[in-house]
Amino acid sequence: MNSSGVSSPGKRNNGAQEMSTKEWPRFVFVIGGVLSGLGKGVVTASIAKVIQAYGYKVTAIKIDPYVNIDAGTMRPTEHGEVFVTDDGGEIDQDLGTYERFLNMNLPKKNNITTGQVYLEVIKRERALEYGGRDVQIIPDVMNEAKRRILEASQGYDVSIVEVGGTTGDIENLVFLFAIRSLMNEYPSVAVMVTYAPLLKNVGELKTKPTQHAIAKLRETGIFPDFVVVRSETGLDEPRREKIARSCFIPKDHIIDDPDLDSIYRLPLLFEEQNLITKILKKLGLEKRKDEMQPWREFVAKIDRAKKPVRVGIVGKYVAYGSAEHKDVYISVMEAIKHAAYHLELKPEIKQVSSTEIEKRGAAALLKGFDGIIVPGGFGTTGVGGKIEAIRYCRENNVPFLGLCFGMQLAVVEFARNVCKLEGAHTTEVDPDTPHPVVDIIPEQKELIEKKMYGATMRLGAWPAVLKEGTLVHKLYGKKEVSERHRHRYEVNPKYVEVLEKHGLVFSGKSPDGILMEFLELPNHKFFVATQAHPEFKSRPLNPHPLFLGFIRACIE
Ligand code: GLN
Repeated sequence: MNSSGVSSPGKRNNGAQEMSTKEWPRFVFVIGGVLSGLGKGVVTASIAKVIQAYGYKVTAIKIDPYVNIDAGTMRPTEHGEVFVTDDGGEIDQDLGTYERFLNMNLPKKNNITTGQVYLEVIKRERALEYGGRDVQIIPDVMNEAKRRILEASQGYDVSIVEVGGTTGDIENLVFLFAIRSLMNEYPSVAVMVTYAPLLKNVGELKTKPTQHAIAKLRETGIFPDFVVVRSETGLDEPRREKIARSCFIPKDHIIDDPDLDSIYRLPLLFEEQNLITKILKKLGLEKRKDEMQPWREFVAKIDRAKKPVRVGIVGKYVAYGSAEHKDVYISVMEAIKHAAYHLELKPEIKQVSSTEIEKRGAAALLKGFDGIIVPGGFGTTGVGGKIEAIRYCRENNVPFLGLCFGMQLAVVEFARNVCKLEGAHTTEVDPDTPHPVVDIIPEQKELIEKKMYGATMRLGAWPAVLKEGTLVHKLYGKKEVSERHRHRYEVNPKYVEVLEKHGLVFSGKSPDGILMEFLELPNHKFFVATQAHPEFKSRPLNPHPLFLGFIRACIE
């Protein structure tokens, strides 16, 4: 056995043989049934939040059963936002939810994928580390999954582990076995999140899908201790009883999770149903203290927020098929909400398609907004519309916040329309532009040529030094800041002088002065952009200063 509690790969060991209840760490496993998209991430984060507030050191882990190594190579329209951690992980957006609820920075190892697990097992097999025996899914792949879960849990009292996907999926089976095995060895609780559809013509919530999902989970040997039932309207007594009776789960372990107007209410709803004290009890722990008060005050602000602030997010990933995307800009949206609620304003956020702007013009589509954000993005689609939107903000004194691609395109717009550098562009969109005001970072060029796309961008936390007396400096209230990055292109240093001469202020640069990290326009209500992704660091109890400044300007 190694220190993480998993047998070394050379010995065949099936977990059950090494069963010995260890006191550390304690696990809460969150597993989904019926369908995806139920908000399992929010359930996980809410459980973690309350356990943390009750006096325990908590971490949260997400298992993603896809074969990709990370979310970095996935299209946002299919997978949602790619979240970035301080240590440069390009990971699942659920980790963003955990960070926001727990108010802590999580490392990339907290997102475990099938790809990572297999890659490690295969590497070991090639290095003859299995001593010549056959390498199998059970126990070898399962043990590598366990090892990763244990490694990420090290040093914490309670580790909350969410398994992506739905019970019955072929993909997550090995992870469920890993969990089953960990449940043998460590104090653990299994929480299943299911869905009870409302059949309008019958007028009642149906529990059969939940019953089937629990039965399906039982095939893996996992018996849920708690069932969180998502529904449109909330669970009534007869339905609660039905699930309890048919699934052999105590009635008070069936938890109601109706649609809420804000995800931030869920920890309080769980508290009302004593879910967390019941989980702690099963783990052999008790409530040590109660530090939920700041959260309650934050939710009270949501209740008081009546005056609207209307923010438009101009992006290309707005629609997918007939559906409007809710996940692609999730951290940007949450950052807007944090700032708005902090000021007791009611955020009204709308995504505006940049390709629509190309067809109908910026004025027609952006008139009703108090402020506009152009977030991160890649590639050529809708770029013209984003540039139009930025121009509209600059010329009409409309508050503007540019994030990453949004900053790069603000430079393009300024170069073209103020500096009169005709045809100025980023080489990402126009490789032959006469004025490459945004260009690829030299090291990035080589990586692309070698097709080394995965995890090779300029990633994670980078420091910047702010220029005294600028708006950005005033908003942060300090000179040195650290923000998360994810990009291959940057403002071309050769054009900085001409841009500055025409009035653009680079208010923050990398410590060596080479990379432009922040820009702003004086004599504008609010025109700020950054090469970073400040949205990843905004927290409900700790709104981001740039977003706060932006929202304040929106209502001025
Ligand atoms: N596509 C741009 C780059 O790679 C911006 C990336 C982003 O917005 N995250 O530099």
